[in-house]
Amino acid sequence: MFNRFQKLPSLLLCFALLAVAFPPQFYAQRRKAKALVYKELKLDLLIKGGTVIDGSLRAPVKTDIGIRGDRIVFVGKSTGKNIIAARTLDAAGMIIAPGFIDPHTHTLEDLSNPKLSGNENYLMQGVTTVITGNDGDGPFRVAETLDKWQRQGIGTNAALLVGHGAVRREILGMNDVQPSAEQLAEMKNLIARAITEGAFGMSTGLFYSPGSFAKTEEVVELAKSAAEEGGVYDTHMRDEGSYSIGLLGSVRETIRIGREAKIPVHISHVKALGTEVWGQSRQVVRLIRQARARGVKVTANQYPYTASGTNIIAALIPRWAEAGGTAQLLERIKDPQIRPRLIVEMEANLRRRNGPEAILITRSKDTQLVGKTLGAIVKEWKKSPVEAALDIAENGGAGIASFNMSEGDIDYFMKQDFVMTGSDGSAGHPRKYGTFPRKLREYVFEKKLITLPFAVRASTALTAETFRIPERGRLRVGYFADVIIFDPKTIADRATYQQPETLATGMKYVIVNGKIAVDEGKYTEILAGIPLRKTQR
Ligand SMILES: [Zn+2]
Repeated sequence: MFNRFQKLPSLLLCFALLAVAFPPQFYAQRRKAKALVYKELKLDLLIKGGTVIDGSLRAPVKTDIGIRGDRIVFVGKSTGKNIIAARTLDAAGMIIAPGFIDPHTHTLEDLSNPKLSGNENYLMQGVTTVITGNDGDGPFRVAETLDKWQRQGIGTNAALLVGHGAVRREILGMNDVQPSAEQLAEMKNLIARAITEGAFGMSTGLFYSPGSFAKTEEVVELAKSAAEEGGVYDTHMRDEGSYSIGLLGSVRETIRIGREAKIPVHISHVKALGTEVWGQSRQVVRLIRQARARGVKVTANQYPYTASGTNIIAALIPRWAEAGGTAQLLERIKDPQIRPRLIVEMEANLRRRNGPEAILITRSKDTQLVGKTLGAIVKEWKKSPVEAALDIAENGGAGIASFNMSEGDIDYFMKQDFVMTGSDGSAGHPRKYGTFPRKLREYVFEKKLITLPFAVRASTALTAETFRIPERGRLRVGYFADVIIFDPKTIADRATYQQPETLATGMKYVIVNGKIAVDEGKYTEILAGIPLRKTQR
């Protein structure tokens, strides 16, 4: 009895020590940790065993991705965790990346056409979001277009830009005139309304008519209206070569628009067009870096091809001859008073584009011409190149690939951290089917000009940030599940100038908003994309 009472103080001391070493919080934490380990994580898709490149510049890491509904809900090692996935995708040997975002496309028509709205050519490149309405062409009735896409279904996500050219045409026609104060106010209203209806910004095509008729001051005023609604400014600049104000003059004009309108500016398909400006990529980059250092947000996109894609009228005929529209152009071509001046200026433009052998016809009503250079046509027709071009213009025009860029400039632009990938995909040019895989195959894996994380960022997160597209462009918990899984050994473009509509290879899975649009390399025809609407400033 007595002995037992004697032990009591030492027993109490033991309990006290235990309580200090393992306080109640310790048990609570352990219960929580156990719950985390054993709690079931239900997924629609588990992507396992691949190498993740998340859209930032972070080094590649072997990890797994979990998707539920339209969101990424898990990033990490899945082994040892209680994960139940409806489907598991084996990504061994594969690269897992955010779906690519293309800042410059001509998909407006394809997306509106139920037969082409799947955007298969883009999905097979790993593109899950396209921006369209570039070059000043985007419609100003934005809600109408977005609603139509929503009703009909689209294969990739799609965002719109309102076009300055479309707005100007609505208010001023195709005329070489300047707006009155009221007309300018009307144009500003159309732009502001388009952005409140969901456009992510405005685009200009100052090289093309009618955008070319606008003075810088007009563009600044309209860009202010876009800036107030939180939109960005995207431009096909007035001159990418030596046509009018020159490449550097155009970069300065773009920077001025950004500074005066207080709007982020984005140079589409940045290039040095024609031998006269080859090498100026260095000065262009210097101007952009200086502007960025002064706080103007300037970025650019680029496609990895030495030929641009345009039409023979835009490339060779001066803008004054187009004033008023096509009927007036055709009259001027026939007018014996005007024709000689036209020919002289067109000869200069042809030289700027590296001559008749550098112009390849890719589309024409006259299918005989397709696949031939202007040089080859001239030999058949026994005419001067410009006379032949005028004949083609009179017969409905033609789409062309214009070989006008140097590899040195392409490389230099690509290495810049503010340059993103953009296809500018148009009918007849391989870039519509090959841009993104080509950049990986040629410039990452073969030439090793840039690293894979750098190329992925330039095709995803950088684009989402620039165009202010929320919750896309990275592999991150809570983000939309736009995910691609590709084979680094086989990813490649297959489209050529001769066969431009050849799908790219190497995409094993393409997931759009959590749904599988490319499954084991095959297009599933699911329309999993959504029209994106700008909602916040
Ligand atoms: Zn363009």
